Amino acid sequence: MALLVLKFGGTSVATIPAIENVANKVSQEIKLGHKVAVVVSAMAGVTNQLVSYCSSISQLYDSKEYDAVVASGEQVTSGLLALALQKRGVKARSWQGWQVPIVTNDVHGKARIKGVETDTLHESLNTGEVAVIAGFQGIAPDGRITTLGRGGSDTSAVAVAAALKAERCDIYTDVDGVYTADPRIVNRAKKIPRISYEEMLEMASVGAKVLQTRSVELAMKEKVPLQVLSSFDGKLGSDLPGTMVMDEAEIVEQEVVSGVTHSRDEAKVTLRQLPDVPGVAAKIFGPLADSAINVDMIVQNVSADKAKTDLTFTVTRADLPKTLDVLKGVAAELPGLQVESSADVSKVSIIGIGMRSYVGVASRMFKTLAEKGINIQVITTSEIKVSVLIGEEYTELAVRALHSAYGLDQE
Ligand code: ADP
Ligand code: ASP
Ligand code: MG
Repeated sequence: MALLVLKFGGTSVATIPAIENVANKVSQEIKLGHKVAVVVSAMAGVTNQLVSYCSSISQLYDSKEYDAVVASGEQVTSGLLALALQKRGVKARSWQGWQVPIVTNDVHGKARIKGVETDTLHESLNTGEVAVIAGFQGIAPDGRITTLGRGGSDTSAVAVAAALKAERCDIYTDVDGVYTADPRIVNRAKKIPRISYEEMLEMASVGAKVLQTRSVELAMKEKVPLQVLSSFDGKLGSDLPGTMVMDEAEIVEQEVVSGVTHSRDEAKVTLRQLPDVPGVAAKIFGPLADSAINVDMIVQNVSADKAKTDLTFTVTRADLPKTLDVLKGVAAELPGLQVESSADVSKVSIIGIGMRSYVGVASRMFKTLAEKGINIQVITTSEIKVSVLIGEEYTELAVRALHSAYGLDQE
């Protein structure tokens, strides 16, 4: 008998029949004698709808009220799943973030979990009850509801699994595992049976939205065994049909490049006529950080005249209006500053632990893109990843070409 945390994403709870299907899976694990805590997302599309309600009132909405609105989707599905379990004779109770409580910091809209109180959850699980926890939400120190950023239910699930010391955290979704590329774009993508935390972390951080980045970070730190699997193919987590995310040391076979990832959630900002003197970057990125805006790629050129330079960086599309607003304030201190922005860019990345020991991996990427006539706007690298920013219209073409170029296509 094990303690398991099962997480069901938006498509898995999108309709009442889908929730009944989830209740069947949970009941099966209970019948096997396991203790089960479940974390649910909102019904597919609901969070998007709630976000658009907020932004239709104001693009620069108050993030505490945004959280009050968008957290509501998970409240509905947690209650509905508890009802569906009770109908099957399985004891179940729903828990909102504040009831557990899942305590976060106060960065509304992208809060980080600081701790999960487990006493009451353990009490519930020990009576044989299924704890159905609303994902994506927590409570700030001042008592207000927070949310964890888009895709945050994955992180709720891993945090609950770590706190309860669960044997495994099963992430049920609409694909049967982690693939070498998004299977919706590359139909020759292959399922990866085992992937290291490190590679999964890089894949998630550059756009493979199958797992939220923070959830992988937490799983790696707390050594939570993670499985990604489908809710729709009739298979049960305990039979281990999905992709296991685990320690690198436990994986024998390694490709040079394990995956190709893309993200359309990118916007590019270019600042021209910046004075080329110490302290300018801090003047720009300090206020952006204070507004909880994550800056991703950054490039700055060496100025030709040693007086003025250009700087380009990327943020998520959702953060672009706020970024431009913050830059308006900064511009007052930097006379002559010109701000340009565009949201029609996307980021394509290759990821693989093998990159550490092979040369020529990045150059093959650039050659492949050149052969397709795709212009690279920005490049960034890490030890096991190369990312390029390109025009959004080339996303699919780039991902498919790279997938073939690194020999990842399914036979
Ligand atoms: P959920 O609602 O269950 O959280 P998400 O939509 O957040 O599901 O994540 C699942 C989706 O992630 C898949 O439908 C797939 O299109 C996408 N995805 C992107 N990259 C990958 C990848 N490398 N492997 C598997 N799925 C991926
Ligand atoms: N419902 C939230 C979202 O759509 C959280 C999640 O699904 O993980 O972002
Ligand atoms: Mg998700």
